[in-house]
Amino acid sequence: MPELPEVENVVRGLKKNILNKKICGVEVLTESIINGDQNFTQKVQGQIIEDIQRRGKYIIIKLNQGNLLIHLRMTGKLLYNGDKDKHTHLILYLSQDTWLSYKDVRKFGRILYLSDSQLQNYLATKVGLEPLEMSFEEFSQRIMKKKGPIKKNLLDQGVIAGIGNIYADEILFASGVKPQYPTEKLDPADLKAIYENIKSILAIAIEAGGSTIRDYVDSTGKAGDFQNFHKVYGRFGQACVRCNSSLDKTKIAGRTTVFCPDCQKG
Ligand SMILES: [Zn+2]
Repeated sequence: MPELPEVENVVRGLKKNILNKKICGVEVLTESIINGDQNFTQKVQGQIIEDIQRRGKYIIIKLNQGNLLIHLRMTGKLLYNGDKDKHTHLILYLSQDTWLSYKDVRKFGRILYLSDSQLQNYLATKVGLEPLEMSFEEFSQRIMKKKGPIKKNLLDQGVIAGIGNIYADEILFASGVKPQYPTEKLDPADLKAIYENIKSILAIAIEAGGSTIRDYVDSTGKAGDFQNFHKVYGRFGQACVRCNSSLDKTKIAGRTTVFCPDCQKG
């Protein structure tokens, strides 16, 4: 559920609170969250948090030795001094009365300890272009190697990292291209529009604090505002803000997809 703008806000919140702190205690409550790593506590305890970065939808906590790679998946939350309850699976104590906790109702998220080289390997093989940093040439080369519905390829984390269901629909609406439009038929003007809307919509959503659909909050417990600016996501059957037609829906890559049948081409 959290996509790039939400994860970026989690990272920004963490930077305010946990940078340069020492992990003085580790409490693992659910082993599946750390993939059953028996040495996790030993590897993490006593380390200093040197930096917090985002790559696609991943959070990377850089320690003085190695890294924590965190994927929130559906319902994961990293909370600074958050409530501890039955959905809390990991607690990193930063002092006697401050902690970072990982909470996850569905338990699909993962927190892995990786060495620098393991991390580089992981990111190089699994994570595609960084949308806010990619050039137009990188984007068009990578996407034009793909075929089939453009939305499916925007969701492919190995192509571009960080775009999920909400932002794919919003980007394609803003670009005037239907989500089911075949990637191989996109003309240069479509590509340019999609490229520019990826950058601008993600940037605006980051500044709005991300989208809170069910219960997303950043690490300080703050919800996002961008859901108030969605033009298609969650608006099936409502009037298109551009042409007033009734918005339609379909399924692409197993995901509910909302679009305008009249003012998006294809
Ligand atoms: Zn329309």
